[in-house]
Amino acid sequence: MTDELVIGIDLGGTKVLAGLIDRNGSVGETIERPTVTSSQPALLDELADLVRSFPLQNVVGVGFGIPSRIDHDTGVALGAVNIPIRDVRFSAEMEHRLGLPVATENDASCAALAESRLGAGRGVRDLLMLTLGTGVGGGVIADGGLFRAYTEFGHIVIVEDGEPCQGACSGRGHVESYCSGRAADALARKLIGEGATAHDLVEQHHPVLGEVGHHLGVAIGSLINIFGATRVVIGGGYGVAAFDQLVPEARRAVLREALAPSGQDVELVPAALGAGAGLIGAGLLAFEDLFPVN
Ligand SMILES: [Zn+2]
Repeated sequence: MTDELVIGIDLGGTKVLAGLIDRNGSVGETIERPTVTSSQPALLDELADLVRSFPLQNVVGVGFGIPSRIDHDTGVALGAVNIPIRDVRFSAEMEHRLGLPVATENDASCAALAESRLGAGRGVRDLLMLTLGTGVGGGVIADGGLFRAYTEFGHIVIVEDGEPCQGACSGRGHVESYCSGRAADALARKLIGEGATAHDLVEQHHPVLGEVGHHLGVAIGSLINIFGATRVVIGGGYGVAAFDQLVPEARRAVLREALAPSGQDVELVPAALGAGAGLIGAGLLAFEDLFPVN
């Protein structure tokens, strides 16, 4: 690792992953903790405590990937669906607590950046990433750079007036209602029995994963029609575990929905950086935002 380090933090719906990152994206010591969801102040205090539990000698900044839309003009995190973050100047609040410069970006955008630079998206100019975890997130690499605007791929409509969405989202028929780990947990309880989870569906090669793959492919087909990506990386714990079972039906749906020749040419690939993508991307963005190299 190089001398200058940042701490990259991936704030998820159920756990927080943090690690020391150098400018090349190499990862040192990492720490994982459950996500505090009792209140926003409790969550921010816990995140500050997590940062302080690292050796901070060579740490020059902190990068957060959070599951929220972020207004980059004001620095305000506008709201998360599954954790208590709402209308908060996130970077400023964390700088105040830590006395270190802080950069913040959407968590799935962080994962997309990391996969683009170091993982399954290397060498591709226009890339999409979908993360299937507790919720569903998405990130876009357009013309080689991270597209830093609101992209909430979990909350695009794939079934008009369909299943109600999760958490703070009032929508219906969103990707998250069908393709998230939480949606798969609900399917498992319904189809296998109380106490069953997404993990059981994957382990049993359950045919319902074909239907989930179809929903995913419908979403990806439309996204390709918008962004023109040539490769789509599927990440998140559930997305990677279920990848082989989701992709055959997803590919069929993409072929139908994306205008030719994009549908035929697009590659669907599993994330390569595993659970570390989010924290690596948060670290890379902290370097780029706080200490840019001209
Ligand atoms: Zn939604």
